[in-house]
Amino acid sequence: MAELTSQEVVDLTRTLNYGTWRFQKGWMPMHVVDAEGCEIIDGDGKRYLDFSSQLMCSNLGHKNAAVIAAIAEQAQQLAYAMPGYATTARAELSQLLLEVLPQGLNKFFFTTSGTEANEAAFKIARMYTGKNKIIARYRSYHGSTSGSIAATGDPRRWAMEPAGKLPGVIFAPEAFCYRCPLGHAAANCGNACANYIEHMIVNESDVAAVIVEPIVGTNGVIVPPEGYMPRLREICTKHNVLLIADEVMSGWGRTGKWFAMEHWGVAPDILVTAKGITSAYVPLGLCATNEKIAAYFDDHYFSHGHTYEAHPITLKPAVATIKEMQRLGLVERSAELGLYLGEKLRELQTRHVCVGEVRGKGLFWALDLVKNRATKEPFATYADKVSGKALLVDQIAGKCVADGMTVQSWVSHFVIAPPLIVSKEQIDFGVALLDKHLAMADEQCVT
Ligand code: PLP
Repeated sequence: MAELTSQEVVDLTRTLNYGTWRFQKGWMPMHVVDAEGCEIIDGDGKRYLDFSSQLMCSNLGHKNAAVIAAIAEQAQQLAYAMPGYATTARAELSQLLLEVLPQGLNKFFFTTSGTEANEAAFKIARMYTGKNKIIARYRSYHGSTSGSIAATGDPRRWAMEPAGKLPGVIFAPEAFCYRCPLGHAAANCGNACANYIEHMIVNESDVAAVIVEPIVGTNGVIVPPEGYMPRLREICTKHNVLLIADEVMSGWGRTGKWFAMEHWGVAPDILVTAKGITSAYVPLGLCATNEKIAAYFDDHYFSHGHTYEAHPITLKPAVATIKEMQRLGLVERSAELGLYLGEKLRELQTRHVCVGEVRGKGLFWALDLVKNRATKEPFATYADKVSGKALLVDQIAGKCVADGMTVQSWVSHFVIAPPLIVSKEQIDFGVALLDKHLAMADEQCVT
């Protein structure tokens, strides 16, 4: 079979595959042939700085030799074993997880994606508590399968709703001080949005769990105010409701700690993660529970499982990923370089009237673009996106691609989250490109 040209690869992909979260017409995917360090390389050999770690998941960067070797070794040794068996990779990873996860999480269920790990968390919470409702927040994303999309607060949920509102989830206001949903002006509101969740729990008969992204990801890297997470923990403990931390995006050094919950010293009852656990070299998700929950299932039936659960080829590279992160000190590096990146992004805010807010921690940042700084009106809404309007942030991201950088744009903000091995020079390059192209948005601002 003759080797396909780049054009043929793109054409076959776009005509025979679905492009996700988009109209199919107009999809023109880049043909990626290679990736190395913080760069991806297209079919013409052009290099692009990967300024969002693909989908905020390639934390170790591309082509890490130790992770690649672990995949190859495991494939040669034992490519598959059904989940009822013990494997060395499974034991090694479980042991390592005890070292890096927040304390108290010591029983693990392995999946092949973040959404499945959340599905497991919801089912475990419902089995353990005997209760039904999950409290999730608006401006959240928990995955695309039925249970996780039902618990997703952002409008990606809407597409499922013609079939009827999905049962078992109720929504709370998000902890978003820049655009406080409860109308407060500043963070000194006495944790009103956490207290609102207590009000919900008290007024609903059967709340099993509250799920939060400790630092909200796709919806704009939203960092809660200092007292929020401890107050939420207090409320959940008081009312015997489980606290689930969805660290699919915020985990694995992304925010300058192994897990974002550590910023507030708060232990969740269940922690869900994926993405950075293998730096996305292979698909792996994890649902980790605390001792109380683990003990419950000693003599209660654990009614859950997958064919690909604890798949050896997904587990061994996770061991290598964690060891590489430890060897290279990447969590500390994320905290340190994050200060530099944050400073550079704040400088952009001083030069560009379109930058309403710069938010983030570690190597996890958002540039929130607004038409008008006084009203904080965004350039677009999700309704604009699904109506097929050309979005300004996508146009700016397109200009960055032309100049050699990929960056995630979402409705009216960018998520800036380079691999944790990024250099200061690469940060400077990425920020300079944003600087160049944000002028396009400035022109459309009301000042
Ligand atoms: N939870 C969060 C916070 C996420 O950011 C994502 C994906 O972006 C998911 C869950 C779903 O993970 P996956 O795409 O692996 O199913």
